[in-house]
Amino acid sequence: MVKISNVRVRPLVLPLKQPYHWSYGIRQTFAVNLIEIEADDGTVGIGECTVAPDQGGTAAILKRLAAHLVGQSPYDVVPLLSRIFHQEYLGHGANLMRAANQMFSGIDMAMWDLQGRLAKLPVHRLLGGAHRKAVGYFYFLQGETAEELARDAAGAHAAGERVFYLKVGRGEALDLEIVAAVRREIGGARLRLDANEAWGVHEAITMCRKLEKFDIEFIEQPTVSWSIPAMAQVRESVGIPIVADQSAFTLHDVYEICRQRAADMICIGPREIGGIQPMLKAAAVAEAAGLKICIHSSFTTGITTSAEHHIGLTIPNLDDGNQIMWQLVGKDIVASPDLAPKNGWLDAFQQPGLGFTLDENLIAEGERRFQASRQG
Ligand SMILES: [Mg+2]
Repeated sequence: MVKISNVRVRPLVLPLKQPYHWSYGIRQTFAVNLIEIEADDGTVGIGECTVAPDQGGTAAILKRLAAHLVGQSPYDVVPLLSRIFHQEYLGHGANLMRAANQMFSGIDMAMWDLQGRLAKLPVHRLLGGAHRKAVGYFYFLQGETAEELARDAAGAHAAGERVFYLKVGRGEALDLEIVAAVRREIGGARLRLDANEAWGVHEAITMCRKLEKFDIEFIEQPTVSWSIPAMAQVRESVGIPIVADQSAFTLHDVYEICRQRAADMICIGPREIGGIQPMLKAAAVAEAAGLKICIHSSFTTGITTSAEHHIGLTIPNLDDGNQIMWQLVGKDIVASPDLAPKNGWLDAFQQPGLGFTLDENLIAEGERRFQASRQG
């Protein structure tokens, strides 16, 4: 029986095509820690993790956690990760499930990729099979000013995009200006907003009332992530549907959001919930509450996009406007397959594992950029 023989962690810094504007500020790069899990027959599975608050620090944690995998079977991913969480976190009184999930996400992703490559089957077939032939994705508008965002919206609308997504929470005057400008360009197309925790309850209710005339499909995470009741209060008071994002990081968060009827949909991704397999559990809890899942992505490359795509194929209660982020990176490290949706749809991948090949030169450049950032 095949065993894991080696684990490598490679910190990468990847510049974006253009500055990224949202309620938390402005970003110029995405940083990820790549994880490669090698079996004793030479097959390698690959995943990636987010890096907050310190990339070198999280790389060291990831190495420590993944060291437990050496000598183990890649087919035991679920009990292995459970044991690591108990041993390395709970056993020390460190009930840090959100932080742990961010580390486990990349390990879980790599383990499923490895299983698929060993079995010569796409990951969605290992997870029970595909519910659909293609997954729907929204168009993520980029720009700083109303003029830049409107120009992006006009181009994407002309290109046949179905669902548009815009960051707000950047100040009332600018928010109203950019939403009006985008709505003018996209006609009757679907428009979603994401406030990323920017508002208090009263402000959120006021903003929703001012935004209602722009026919908003939903507003994501209007209020702070740690208060589910705050989001529920907004939802009870406004006409625009509310979607939970930063409030939903763990299975227990998903349950509480459902129980408190705090959202009309749950936006969650592998990077929060801890990988591919935990996403199926989160979706099942939401399904029981009658809610759909909108896959969430954040500061990720095509590696996570590929994992999200297999999840999207597998979850029954999936929304048709999911999030991907690889397209914001200057040069994505995934060389194939083509991850660009056509008119907002991306067909199922049939290649073994998560199905991607990587550009080793871009990875080496990303590593050098990380090293340079440590010296600077
Ligand atoms: Mg969001």
